[in-house]
Amino acid sequence: MTQPAPSASTAPSASTDPSASTDPPTASPEATAPASQAPADAPPATTAPTSQAPSGTAPASPIRRVALEVVARRLTVLRVEPLGRSMRRVALGGPELAGFRCEGPTDHAKAFFPPTPDDDVPMPELVDGRWVAREGERPVSRDYTIRTFDPAAGEVVLDMAVHDHGPAGRWAAAARPGSRLGLLGPKTTKLPPTDRDWYLFAVDETGLPGLANWFDRLPSTARVLAFAEVDGPEDEVPLAGAHEVTWLHRGTAERGTTTLLADAVARAGLPGPTGRGWVWAAAEATAVRGVRRHVTALGVDRSCSSMTGYWRVGVAGFDHKSPEATD
Ligand SMILES: Cc1cc2nc3c(=O)[nH]c(=O)nc-3n(C[C@H](O)[C@H](O)[C@H](O)COP(=O)(O)OP(=O)(O)OC[C@H]3O[C@@H](n4cnc5c(N)ncnc54)[C@H](O)[C@@H]3O)c2cc1C
Repeated sequence: MTQPAPSASTAPSASTDPSASTDPPTASPEATAPASQAPADAPPATTAPTSQAPSGTAPASPIRRVALEVVARRLTVLRVEPLGRSMRRVALGGPELAGFRCEGPTDHAKAFFPPTPDDDVPMPELVDGRWVAREGERPVSRDYTIRTFDPAAGEVVLDMAVHDHGPAGRWAAAARPGSRLGLLGPKTTKLPPTDRDWYLFAVDETGLPGLANWFDRLPSTARVLAFAEVDGPEDEVPLAGAHEVTWLHRGTAERGTTTLLADAVARAGLPGPTGRGWVWAAAEATAVRGVRRHVTALGVDRSCSSMTGYWRVGVAGFDHKSPEATD
């Protein structure tokens, strides 16, 4: 991908939708033994918060978590559309989508990939409360944000970055109607606050679906500062809502190797007083660490932010719950 030198541009957004999912069990990245862990009797969807800090410790998280029943689904690609030059929007459906649920902007599921897009998908099975690979199978899974779920149309949409370096990026490049993909989860739907005075967002391609979901949910009165790093102008994607994105172009730099997001956050500062806002960052792990450093230096408390490394240069099946992703 040859492009001009890193630069920034501001552009409005345009697109639609609601819904999202969460964090399914630990479906193994590269198909080893336990593909994931979920209680055999995974709780049914409930509106009760599932996470409260014990009394006497840190304040309860303002993110409301709703446990969902974890279900493994084999789905079929209905449609594939280009989303800028480096992403593809994949709509999936099929009878196994029945009962699917997700609501939060960053909800995600484990996507399971077949050896080739049209093969059947090896998926784990639930044995004694653990999701494990079936005999002789090596399921391959990666986390993907649920961009939208439309129960009436019976389709769930993923926006997927295309690249050559891993099975998911290659599947996204090759997918076409009829291709197969598995989804495990979401396990939880997370509802972060949408009534803060201001929001600061920092994402790369992998965080764009979550950013789009945030934009769909935030009131137009919220003060929003959003930075999105992509290769170049052709890689910008339309986002709906009343808010704007400042696009940062990495040009010919490899994805995940720049400090564009952290530099932009450091230059811009916060859109409002600490304690009144919310910060969300999702991008390559080292880039997120840089953002986190500046945000922390600006006085934002962990209780007012959620910043996660979604992938890491050189690491296959990076675990977004590892200390490297969340420290
Ligand atoms: C909660 C969560 C939600 C996510 N949602 C989305 C989403 O909606 N859309 C999306 O596109 N991604 C999303 N991701 C990121 C995606 O899971 C990772 O990029 C994943 O590593 C891709 O798997 P892979 O098989 O292509 O590469 P892997 O096999 O995991 O990695 C192989 C190599 O590919 C490189 N690599 C991995 N990802 C990228 C990338 N994006 N660009 C360039 N090189 C890469 C790494 O350097 C690595 O060495 C999400 C991640 C998390 C944790």
